[in-house]
Amino acid sequence: MSKTEFEFTDSVMYVKGVGPNRAKALEKLKIFTMYDLLTHYPRTYDDQRYITPISQARIDEQGVFIGTLYNINLRETSRLKILSATLSDSSGSIKVMWFNQEYLQKKLFTGTRIMIVGKVKFDTWNGCLAINQINSFAILEPGEKVTLGLKPVYPATATINQSVFRTAIQNLLEKMPPIKEILPAQILKKLNLMPLDTAMRQIHFPKDAATLGQARRRLAFDELFLIQCGLMLIKRQNTEQKLGITCKKNGALVKKVFESLPFTLTDDQLKTFKTVAQDMESSLPMRRLIQGDVGSGKTVVAMLALVKVVENGWQGALMAPTEILAVQHYNTFTQMLEKFGIRIGLLSAKVTRYKKTREENYSKIANHEFDIVIGTHALIQDAVQFAKLGLVITDEQHRFGVTQRANLGKKSEVVPDMIVMTATPIPRTMTLTVYGDLNVSLIKQMPPGRKPIKTSVKTVRSRKTVYEFVRSEILKGRQAYVVCPLIERSESERFNSVDPATEIYEMLSRGIFKDISCALIHGKINPLEKDEIMTRFHDGKIKLLVSTTVIEVGVDVPNATVMVIENAERFGLSQLHQLRGRVGRGSEKSYCILISDSKQGAAGARLDLMESTNNGFELAEEDLKLRGPGQFFGESQHGLPDLKIANVFRDIETLIEARNAAETFVTSESDLSYFAGLRKNLALAYGDKFNQINLA
Ligand code: ADP
Ligand code: MG
Repeated sequence: MSKTEFEFTDSVMYVKGVGPNRAKALEKLKIFTMYDLLTHYPRTYDDQRYITPISQARIDEQGVFIGTLYNINLRETSRLKILSATLSDSSGSIKVMWFNQEYLQKKLFTGTRIMIVGKVKFDTWNGCLAINQINSFAILEPGEKVTLGLKPVYPATATINQSVFRTAIQNLLEKMPPIKEILPAQILKKLNLMPLDTAMRQIHFPKDAATLGQARRRLAFDELFLIQCGLMLIKRQNTEQKLGITCKKNGALVKKVFESLPFTLTDDQLKTFKTVAQDMESSLPMRRLIQGDVGSGKTVVAMLALVKVVENGWQGALMAPTEILAVQHYNTFTQMLEKFGIRIGLLSAKVTRYKKTREENYSKIANHEFDIVIGTHALIQDAVQFAKLGLVITDEQHRFGVTQRANLGKKSEVVPDMIVMTATPIPRTMTLTVYGDLNVSLIKQMPPGRKPIKTSVKTVRSRKTVYEFVRSEILKGRQAYVVCPLIERSESERFNSVDPATEIYEMLSRGIFKDISCALIHGKINPLEKDEIMTRFHDGKIKLLVSTTVIEVGVDVPNATVMVIENAERFGLSQLHQLRGRVGRGSEKSYCILISDSKQGAAGARLDLMESTNNGFELAEEDLKLRGPGQFFGESQHGLPDLKIANVFRDIETLIEARNAAETFVTSESDLSYFAGLRKNLALAYGDKFNQINLA
């Protein structure tokens, strides 16, 4: 099975040493094409640069040994078949042991010369040193020279081992014609980057450590540069090619709303709104990310921006990630803005599930009978046509993908202004990667009078004490949340230790909170009912709310001061922080109690961090380190390809270089045809994922 023409997109099956069966097994690692195999980069490298004389073998150290075998012997115990031999070179000899590989007996004879890479242990049975953790070994033909160096170690599967990978990739590299350079010569030269073809070959079989470093840097640069170019292109298209809307200076309506606010804005809020207003008054479309920790008061900034766009005769849209949050925003906005004649519409499941209300609202949006429309992702459905959409705000952006962000923007003939808001304080390097097309405003201050939330971790055994404390707070007039990871117990989880919301609710509402109004809320409850529960909780009629993560983002009930999280080990760090952010929103002292019996491992580490800091930025950084960017954002959410080789922590310098290179490159390059080629390379490199970003 061989082909004469070489195409990167050909099935990996045609690589010598792979074939149909192994190709099938490789699918598990998402390796389908030759290109996939080529970019299946080593996880690490085995240092096989030097031969260890046997006399210098040390316990627990790995060595590369070359010698001849004798004393070959097979011994069987009840569990194991142990093949042992003595290996000797000119400096001495050592025992070698293979476990359950008795078939080797047919290949190894007295006098066979082998090269073996393995770890040396003290063998208590024989009372001597032995090589018994064998990474790899090869039988050497008479006179055969061995190749030393850094040997790649690949992410492997049970069925495909390292030597298969090494051989297959070696064969692929031999067959592969030189890879065409994709980077412009001036960038290569300026940043002193290794040519692509060399880098691709050296990353697998590096000549030495320095060359390997160069190869890694080059390939990491490519990934980051391509992403940055994509982001720059989006930015450029948004700002240069199309005209945005231009607002006038703040007029009477903005001023009236501003003066009617029940509090004074913090300096950061004010500064952010001023920047936003400036963006809106310019003729370029606004593209701004507002980052502010939970509870820092982003909503009011969004509201003022929406009022401003309405004042200028346009419509505005606010997109929230959950039904509950959309309804909450709708209520707040109605309460604060309706008295000024601003017409506010809601587009969420509650409205869209009935044909009548749905079409009524669609037509009000299309006829400009609503000034501001608030909704969930129902807002980006094709049927929704705005008459004059001028501003789009996405709340809690980390829940939406880049694609969704782009989609809402398409709903208008002109390019509407755009703000995205997130409470996940993303480290700067990640901001550059994921939100590189946006300008960033930070709200660092909290509104005055907030007391830090006291967080503590408790075991299930102290549950009773915990809920007695909750009860005492409720009797003082406060309200409380209890959050559980699951709604109900599934068959398979019958015996497991997770206590679902339904059961906790039964336990609490029939037990210690029997005389207190409790409610249960979760994703399976219908929107109308959910709404009613939230309204009653908001109005203080419900004191204790047992819920799942449906309340995770954005919910704002300042009188709620206690948050109990059951099975806290089940939640991620950012999620815990978000949940905790539901309390500490008023001037009363607030508490967050994490119930968990898992104090070990990563879960324990998360809970400790929660106890030690209230700072979302620190937590996010830690979380990102613990989980890696892919999981941190969730692949489908950030909409960008997972990086195969670049690492946003280790490669910060390369990231900045890539960012700067893309910045000058994209703006100075007026010929868009280059990008068509670049895009092809992107698609080749990243598959469909990159196509989600609309470069066309
Ligand atoms: P988030 O940034 O998490 O979306 P919100 O916008 O929901 O935060 O605001 C949290 C709470 O703080 C709300 O109850 C809001 O009314 C209140 N708030 C916002 N800004 C101020 C301020 N400058 N002074 C006092 N309270 C404020
Ligand atoms: Mg919010």
